[in-house]
Amino acid sequence: MTSFADITTIGVGGHIARFIEPTSRVGVIEAVEEADGRGVPLCVVGGGSNMLVSDAPFDGVVVRDARRAITVPDEAAPVEGGDRTVHVNAEAGCNWDDFVAFTVGLGLEGVEGLSGIPGTVGASVVQNIGAYGQEVASGVESVEVWDRLEKRTAELSAADLAFGYRTSALKTSMYAAPAVPSDRFFPTPRYVVLSVTFALRHSPTGVVGYGQLAKALGVGVGERMATGAIRDAVLRVRAAKGMLEDAARYLNPAMAGTKRDDQMRAALRAQYGDAERAATRPDRDRHSCGSFFMNPVLTDHEAARLPQDAPRFDAVLPDGTPGVKTSAAWLIDHAGFHKGFRTAPDAAAGLSTLHTLALTNRGGASADDVAALARTVRDGVQAAFGVRLLPEPVVVGLAL
Ligand SMILES: Cc1cc2nc3c(=O)[nH]c(=O)nc-3n(C[C@H](O)[C@H](O)[C@H](O)COP(=O)(O)OP(=O)(O)OC[C@H]3O[C@@H](n4cnc5c(N)ncnc54)[C@H](O)[C@@H]3O)c2cc1C
Repeated sequence: MTSFADITTIGVGGHIARFIEPTSRVGVIEAVEEADGRGVPLCVVGGGSNMLVSDAPFDGVVVRDARRAITVPDEAAPVEGGDRTVHVNAEAGCNWDDFVAFTVGLGLEGVEGLSGIPGTVGASVVQNIGAYGQEVASGVESVEVWDRLEKRTAELSAADLAFGYRTSALKTSMYAAPAVPSDRFFPTPRYVVLSVTFALRHSPTGVVGYGQLAKALGVGVGERMATGAIRDAVLRVRAAKGMLEDAARYLNPAMAGTKRDDQMRAALRAQYGDAERAATRPDRDRHSCGSFFMNPVLTDHEAARLPQDAPRFDAVLPDGTPGVKTSAAWLIDHAGFHKGFRTAPDAAAGLSTLHTLALTNRGGASADDVAALARTVRDGVQAAFGVRLLPEPVVVGLAL
């Protein structure tokens, strides 16, 4: 029987009563519709890289879309001096980094900075994934969804999707308020993503949009570099921070076929050298949900209470007014929770030894262990700075 521990990157979570992997578009819709029609809990899962699920049995249906095709409807080669936009469509179950590798290989610019982010194309638009100065929002033209309320398919434009920092209309459709699940659809949005159409640009180079990346590449922020070089640098920087998923997870039969074989083998070789080492000495710093807390966006008044040296960036508050974004990693570290922090020396959950924002399963952790660590860090930051951190992952069946 499949469990959430088998199919999530943090490796915790209970048994799943019914696990379905549809291989057709109509199969995905039927699986979702059947669960909704019977009123049983439904979770559409992608790569399980942004979920923290309780260890209690999940008495419902989990649907993982097994369609992974990428198609390029624009057949004509770009004309010199003409529009260089190329549309690429990917089915929701396509592994996100397989998609990035494909577009970079095709000579397209637009998502190279998002290399190495775990998960699927379908979920990429739910939380508007972002890293190193790029967000998926900037490359999305439209998203085909199954609307669980209206019971029909719909094509949502980028404007309909109302993308924001780690959010979209898809994500907000499953919450009553930030981090407060809605009774109706949670833990999956009202809109189930079937496929995403991207508008990318035919160009061998992309913009280096982030200081750390520019440093790794030895160029200035804003300069152009080959998209392949940007991708390689992003993968290197992410690896050094433990922010790549553990390629060894694909050796688990529950993950079979979810990532392209050549990409999976290349990742295994880069991380471990050989499959035996991967199976026996997993890299625990990679057993996380990525960043566990979002960077808080504060009002000017709230930001004024932060210490002088706390990072501050211009941002927009949920109500559309200007705000100040600070760094959750900085707050955590300055509240006394440093890399590798554990509540007890033998605790099975701890902060990554490479990144303060990643809560990791050090081996044998339960969902409750991770939740307890999250509470300790969140409450410590609140006591030190008066800022309440909100979790970035989708937290299912647990009260943080
Ligand atoms: C090591 C590591 C590093 C990470 N780094 C980053 C980063 O740099 N930037 C970043 O933004 N994120 C990062 N993340 C978080 C994560 O990779 C992203 O949120 C990713 O998009 C999740 O994809 P997934 O397929 O694994 O989603 P899942 O975890 O499977 O699901 C997440 C949510 O999306 C919903 N969902 C899944 N598929 C669909 C669908 N087809 N239709 C509708 N809803 C769906 C689920 O129901 C759930 O609510 C990182 C995670 C890890 C483990």
